[in-house]
Amino acid sequence: MATPKYKRVILKLSGEALAGQQGFGIDPNVIHNIAQQLAEVVELKVEVAVVVGGGNIWRGISGSSKGMDRATADYMGMLATVLNALALQDALEHLRVDTRVQTSVEMRQVAEPYIRRRAIRHLEKGRVVILAGGTGNPYFSTDTTAALRAAEIEAEVILMAKNGVDGVYNADPQEDPDAVKYDELGFFDVLSQGLGIMDSTATSLCMDNDIPILVFALNEIGNIRRAVMGESLGTIVRRKTRA
Ligand code: UDP
Repeated sequence: MATPKYKRVILKLSGEALAGQQGFGIDPNVIHNIAQQLAEVVELKVEVAVVVGGGNIWRGISGSSKGMDRATADYMGMLATVLNALALQDALEHLRVDTRVQTSVEMRQVAEPYIRRRAIRHLEKGRVVILAGGTGNPYFSTDTTAALRAAEIEAEVILMAKNGVDGVYNADPQEDPDAVKYDELGFFDVLSQGLGIMDSTATSLCMDNDIPILVFALNEIGNIRRAVMGESLGTIVRRKTRA
């Protein structure tokens, strides 16, 4: 059996990826499909922590643009990620994959608090750790959470699963038929060209801690396995080596 390229990964699932075609809420078929892909990867003995977003339910910035206090709106966004985490946990447990949800916003009845050492221990035992509640702080994003947790738990890569796009392009491929996909990019290219893979806080954190990001399409079955196996897929953002 081929050996996976990565032993420990962070999968970043945006809320949008859980919404499927409907564009909001949680699509049970989509979440089942993701759970199946994750089960395949766990079989390969890859340790997986999933950082879930919440944009399918609530985004702080939208609330604040309508006059809400930004911090309050952001806390609502953090709570939205907990809903997604529980839905993913349920789908995984239906497939008999052991999971633990940890949240940065304490909610003892439904999830463990985020404790780094405990998260690592779960991973070592083959459990999928679902990280909810973002960083626990307003003004941040779940992309930044993925970067932060990847550094903390020493994940080798962030798998940035996207819905409908299979990598990073020099223009929007939906609008420009001549858009070209990059196979590889440096962190600085992402920052200086304003490529919207993740926000600049998250990108800088990955750059400073040398954590590669693989951007790929989630909706193609088997892609999470391909990603952990190191098959050529999507766009990799990493520290550029000198030619
Ligand atoms: N959020 C936050 N702090 C964090 C992570 C998330 O305040 O550390 C809030 C923020 O309002 C954000 C919302 O939670 O809009 C949902 O997260 P995000 O937008 O990152 O979700 P995604 O785009 O991945 O679905």
